Amino acid sequence: MATELPAAIELRHRAHADPRASGDEEDTAALVVEALGAGEGVQVAKTGRAVLLPGSAGGPAVALRSELDALPVTERTGVAWASQSDLMHACGHDVHLAALVAVCRSAVEIGVPKPILALLQPREETSPSGAFDVVGSGVLAEHDVDAVIGAHVQPRLTQGVVSAAPGPVNASTDEFEVIVHGQGGHAGYPHLLRDPILALSQVVVSLQQLASRRIDPIFGAVCSIGRIQAGAAANVVPNHASAFGSLRLMRAADRDVALDALAEIVQGTAKAHGCTAELRISPCEPVLHNDPGLATRAQAWLARTPRIDVDTEFRSFGADDFAHYCGATRGLMMFVGLGDSAGAPSLHDERFLPQDTAVGLVANALIAGYLAAMES
Ligand SMILES: [Zn+2]
Repeated sequence: MATELPAAIELRHRAHADPRASGDEEDTAALVVEALGAGEGVQVAKTGRAVLLPGSAGGPAVALRSELDALPVTERTGVAWASQSDLMHACGHDVHLAALVAVCRSAVEIGVPKPILALLQPREETSPSGAFDVVGSGVLAEHDVDAVIGAHVQPRLTQGVVSAAPGPVNASTDEFEVIVHGQGGHAGYPHLLRDPILALSQVVVSLQQLASRRIDPIFGAVCSIGRIQAGAAANVVPNHASAFGSLRLMRAADRDVALDALAEIVQGTAKAHGCTAELRISPCEPVLHNDPGLATRAQAWLARTPRIDVDTEFRSFGADDFAHYCGATRGLMMFVGLGDSAGAPSLHDERFLPQDTAVGLVANALIAGYLAAMES
């Protein structure tokens, strides 16, 4: 595999310099398919591609998944191969694609027993999710896939650490919008009004009790508001106020409880302020649940890989549409450490730039996942 890394890193730079938005990834897919050198494959989920690499033993295939899309972020890394557009590979998908190419090219060269389906997945960053559409397309069943393997770079893990944890590793996500309707008017006569901003503010604070008082703290929940919209002037109370947020859970069984509590808090709090409220829910990702057998076998393979330290428990309330594969077949998502130095840019940051050595680490993680799937 080491001999494939220089060309893969070169490819990473090319993909990074020329990013494509979610749903517009044809050019990136074509670049990667050409680098794979194993045929055109089939189109999936509109702008994605799946390329089958045959195995000597036949049987079910192992899918190795990488994401194609970039983010609407203006890059500030200062490298020579930085994106010049208003898009950026700020989530490491360029690294994942390059690693997938290195693994697949070596697999073809040395010959592997189980077939590999190289899955170039579009639209990881947006809804409707690319993974959901890949599963719906039937391509996994068509190619007799019985395991899907993925690896994502993770700045919160130390460089050289690869995590393969069994069970839930990423949260489910539901996005929601709360609209509070009140009675606006002159800011100096609050007793004549029904202030939707005050009611909404109380909703935002009370929603924190959802995690602390409704969901078993062993499993946890996160309810974060990312956007608030209301009013136009300091001395005018508006008629409406809205907030947009996401509800994240680690256990599918908590979802109904959490959604009921969310509705109760929103309606009850609005009513207590003499207002009414609307609540709109948009389901996004389910819980990403790693197959325990795949995770433990991958840990053993990773432990035998030079320059890798194995972690067995990293999980976060981030979300990844890889979760849809875990619902369709056995899935394993690993996390590859980039370093935990203070002030290191997070995923989706305009300065986020994994070192090129991450390509080799992600490739080794994918190989460990393949071997784990091959054993069972
Ligand atoms: Zn990502």
